[in-house]
Amino acid sequence: MSSSSESSSPRHLIVVGAGVVGMLSALEMRRRGWRVSVFDRGQAAQESSWAGGGILSPILPWHYPQAVWTLAQASLPLYAALAPALAQSTGIDPELTPSGALVLDPDALTVGARWCADAGLTAMEMDAILRTRGPLHPGLLLPWIGQIRTPRLGRALAAQLRLDGVQLHEHTAVTGWCEHHGRIVGVVTAAGECRADAVLLTAGAWSGALAPVPVQPVRGQMLAIRAAPSRLKRIVLDRGRYLIPRRDGCILVGSTVEPGSFDKHTTAEARDELLAFATGLLGDEGLADAVEAHWTGLRPGSADGVPLIGEHPALPGLWVNTGHFRNGLVMAPASAVLLADLLCGVTPAIDARPYALEPGRL
Ligand SMILES: Cc1cc2nc3c(=O)[nH]c(=O)nc-3n(C[C@H](O)[C@H](O)[C@H](O)COP(=O)(O)OP(=O)(O)OC[C@H]3O[C@@H](n4cnc5c(N)ncnc54)[C@H](O)[C@@H]3O)c2cc1C
Repeated sequence: MSSSSESSSPRHLIVVGAGVVGMLSALEMRRRGWRVSVFDRGQAAQESSWAGGGILSPILPWHYPQAVWTLAQASLPLYAALAPALAQSTGIDPELTPSGALVLDPDALTVGARWCADAGLTAMEMDAILRTRGPLHPGLLLPWIGQIRTPRLGRALAAQLRLDGVQLHEHTAVTGWCEHHGRIVGVVTAAGECRADAVLLTAGAWSGALAPVPVQPVRGQMLAIRAAPSRLKRIVLDRGRYLIPRRDGCILVGSTVEPGSFDKHTTAEARDELLAFATGLLGDEGLADAVEAHWTGLRPGSADGVPLIGEHPALPGLWVNTGHFRNGLVMAPASAVLLADLLCGVTPAIDARPYALEPGRL
């Protein structure tokens, strides 16, 4: 295994975890001229970044801290550039789709509409036809909410890493740190040690196993239902649950929020609950026969959903970009830029303080 970087050669970053957060951080640092090595204990983008629904907005952004919306909003133009660029260079289209979202939550037309007006975002009242709630149910249409197809995004990013000359070491778990005079200077893996100028922890729900960061696994279960391509046109959000229509007609039904364990099994209870939710909105009987897949993912849960981005105060040399909870896909591009700015000593465009690893957050 390669060892320490030379002072005359490009600076070397090791990234621990090849989810969307780790891979986008790696690409951003590579773009800034660093040599980058990424380690994942499994295959790239097979955990939360694969399992996620790919809605490119916090579900009901008015219920989240401003710091979450700041990163989400900053990511939208980055996705608009990234998705076609990945499709062109890798041949894998992540299917960035401006579906729009219809929000049916009771506070959408009051709190939600006011929040959109204050944020300068389009929001329109629209009646939905819902079998279970009478013929017409008022909702709030948010046309700026899009989606990305997560398994495709993951495959495209892994392909782009290789095209950009990032060393991607799959099936190579990081088990500890190399330290020198109190600084983290590399990683220990089963294949040996690897040293670098900086190490970045992006191990999602497993980050807390490697360093003292307040990140807990929060299991989410989803279903995929087979349907005709025109069956549902928009994302539908309703009290924490949602439907996402993919381009091929498949409808994702999500998701449960189950904190506290690394257990990745699916449960019959969640399947029944998600099916009941989908049936209530779509009105179709017999949806159970149309279920194509049922899966889980472990979100990297942080206390307030605000990710931790910056250098670890107790472990100099170790940088962190994790804890994105329910919004890691939408926040990942801007999180990567913020991390890269901090690592390179550039003043970030976004105020970094809400994301800092302050003693009060650790
Ligand atoms: C059901 C569900 C629905 C979701 N829907 C959305 C959505 O619609 N929109 C949205 O924005 N977000 C959504 N999310 C959240 C989003 O998926 C996550 O916040 C995001 O994917 C986290 O990315 P990550 O790169 O931090 O973690 P991960 O994708 O989990 O990647 C972490 C990586 O670290 C690796 N790793 C762990 N330990 C080690 C080790 N010791 N050594 C080496 N590698 C290691 C893992 O193998 C993994 O590949 C959803 C999540 C779930 C589960």
